[in-house]
Amino acid sequence: MKKLVLLACLAVAAGANAQTYPTNRPISIVVPFAAGGPTDRVARDLAEAMRKAIPGSNFVVENAAGAGGTIGANKVAKAAPDGQTLLLFHVGMATTPVMYRKLTYKPLEDFEYLGIVNDVPMTLIGKPQLPANTYRDFENYIRANAGKLNLAHAGQGSASHLCGLMWQSAVKLNESMTTIPFGGTAPAMNALVGGQVDVMCDQTTNTVGQIEGGRVKAFAVTTARPLSGHKTLKDYPTLQEMGLKGFNLTIWHGLYAPKGTPAAITKILNEGMKKALKDPDFIKKQEGLGAIVATDNRVTPEGHKAFVAAEINKIRPVFEAAKAFAD
Ligand code: ASP
Repeated sequence: MKKLVLLACLAVAAGANAQTYPTNRPISIVVPFAAGGPTDRVARDLAEAMRKAIPGSNFVVENAAGAGGTIGANKVAKAAPDGQTLLLFHVGMATTPVMYRKLTYKPLEDFEYLGIVNDVPMTLIGKPQLPANTYRDFENYIRANAGKLNLAHAGQGSASHLCGLMWQSAVKLNESMTTIPFGGTAPAMNALVGGQVDVMCDQTTNTVGQIEGGRVKAFAVTTARPLSGHKTLKDYPTLQEMGLKGFNLTIWHGLYAPKGTPAAITKILNEGMKKALKDPDFIKKQEGLGAIVATDNRVTPEGHKAFVAAEINKIRPVFEAAKAFAD
């Protein structure tokens, strides 16, 4: 009898979750990097599209920057699993468990996976004062000035850090630049535009506007194929075309809730996200910045989780080869 009452209570609780969600409180999307950067940009566009997709909802973006995104990710891993706090994180979900020896969250255990949002190419860029104008000149310049230049990134394990490591290892210039970590690539970009740092590799969602405005120099894109469909990025060679065989880096963003968030709520969020990914305004904004909105099986929780598990295995050798580990 007791068991029946308990089951009835649980059923009521589950039903209530579906019926009362979204609540009248805003749902917070935590971005683990500084405001104004590429992850922040995706989160703000997604928040707007999800608000339209989920009746009665309201989303706010909260920046919790630092330590390559691990501070914000940890915050969401430990948040109440009530659908009020979500995380938008990029490839860092796969780099941080490889790189950090003492990670305070477990990417594959501490989150409910809500779906992959997009794929984003990266661009190798330099401060406007760099003498090089082509990729070839750029590589020669770095080689000639090994030990004298700075590479900006968004913290250990961030996308910009991963890209910088991969590029330096591909051209056999490991540790040729001093790495300067920032709380995100928005402040790193300010330093690059101002000439305080020399080089950065960052998502196109942050670099397209700066390249078009002539505030930074771009040398190459990191994708396997040229970005011929994009009005600005089509002008830059791929690193493969520049002789870096097999170089192919496209990063991705995914949406997460804390583990234990009721299934009725994660279903509303996943369905809302899938609807948002079909929103023509969202697609247009993302494509304008070089991003490709996800349409494949990774938009499902199972597909998303399987993809991240595979990415962790793919990324491990990059950090092991560079002996890039942190506590
Ligand atoms: N682009 C950053 C990174 O390198 C993150 C950000 O600021 O959005 O990981």
